[in-house]
Amino acid sequence: MKKFVILIEDDFEVMGNGRGNVADLQYLPALSFMNIANKYNAKITFMVDIAHKLMLEKLSPDHPELDIQNTILDKTILLMKSMGHDVQLHLHPQWLNSRYKDGHFYLSEKWNIGLYDQQEQKDLIQGSVNHLTQLLGKKYPEYSVCAFKAGSWGMQPSATLLAALKEAGINIVMGVREGLQIPSQGLDYRMLEEKYLPYYPDSNDITKLAENTKNPVVIPMQPYAPDLGTFSRYALNQVVTKLRYKNTSSYYEASAAPQQVKALNPINDSKIFSAALRPYRTHLKIGNQPLSYLKSSFDDVIRELDKRDDARIPILIESHTKQHHHYYDDIDRFFSYITNKYESKIEFGDMTSFSHELKVNPGLARVKSAI
Ligand SMILES: [Zn+2]
Repeated sequence: MKKFVILIEDDFEVMGNGRGNVADLQYLPALSFMNIANKYNAKITFMVDIAHKLMLEKLSPDHPELDIQNTILDKTILLMKSMGHDVQLHLHPQWLNSRYKDGHFYLSEKWNIGLYDQQEQKDLIQGSVNHLTQLLGKKYPEYSVCAFKAGSWGMQPSATLLAALKEAGINIVMGVREGLQIPSQGLDYRMLEEKYLPYYPDSNDITKLAENTKNPVVIPMQPYAPDLGTFSRYALNQVVTKLRYKNTSSYYEASAAPQQVKALNPINDSKIFSAALRPYRTHLKIGNQPLSYLKSSFDDVIRELDKRDDARIPILIESHTKQHHHYYDDIDRFFSYITNKYESKIEFGDMTSFSHELKVNPGLARVKSAI
């Protein structure tokens, strides 16, 4: 019988411009998210931003306030495994060569790892894999890093990046979504050859299918375009939430950081581009969306995937724990909704389990000749 494998990948990080505190944006929301997921036997794969982690590690000896955050991260990562969830790799390369001054990080404007040179890519990826393996390997000897989610969805140009990921043992890569375009970061996924199903990418162009199975598998984020009613309710919810919780956001998020830090947002033009596109196009997300939006996005994507003949199809949901603060009830009810409504059709997996499946059955992902 046809099955959908729900893969929830959580981009586990502070703000892209370096603001925020691990305790507030990572530890507490992750604990809450895991408690909710465990009620429904759902699995989460936490994709931890190790570029940030390595910076905390480096500065900890001289900065006790960073040392505490580094320790919380270490223990939270161990807690994730002990609560039955998966831990994999996310990287925001803007942390490379960042500066820390007067309690603030100053990050670079290059947010796409594809734009870094080959040696930088290799060093960051291999160093991060080693870091995670050392942290978790003592208690979980079978643990390995098998999946990567690109920060800011950046994976172009893809040739050296795919090679570095493969060399580090990565089997699944994520970040690609049909229609996504961020010109300032050199990203353009408008010509994606496969929008919905896992595929083996061409070594030189991640948007194209390869004729062989030698590269890590791309699991695309399945596109979703909310109808006008759903989108309006979402927009209204954002405004109401903003007003209701005005002035209650965390000191570390909202404090008077220097203008240079606050203003850093080189992927901002993605908003301009998606707003200019009709209909508004995005992908499955769990973050700061109300229940009505979560339900209708999932219904929409599963309806589309039901048209496919494949017996086993992953559904990829991108989560951001740092956005969950006022939405725990919506998230809980969303899990309740999908586990009741689609009980016979869905099961939960994680990146480690799906990576094993791909190794046993490489045909779960597409190659060029199969089309
Ligand atoms: Zn991220």
